[in-house]
Amino acid sequence: MGRRRRKEVKIPRKTLPEFYPCPRCGKNTVLVRLVRKSGVAWISCGSCGLKISVQISDNIHEVDAYNSFVDKYYEIGGEIILNE
Ligand SMILES: [Zn+2]
Repeated sequence: MGRRRRKEVKIPRKTLPEFYPCPRCGKNTVLVRLVRKSGVAWISCGSCGLKISVQISDNIHEVDAYNSFVDKYYEIGGEIILNE
């Protein structure tokens, strides 16, 4: 006799948002890229071109890097935009 198997329902895991709001242009187009090897994160906005690199520590997550980016942005008044 067969036992009824309940169908497993997979709940999709909430993934981290890939894009963050930009403090400069206000659009949701900021991308965070962690370069752990060099201990920096590159944060750039795909809309207005704002680009800032911040120092990161080992176990930092994208969102932490993003927060440092926002802090830095306000600290420097958004004047420094790094080109490649
Ligand atoms: Zn922007």
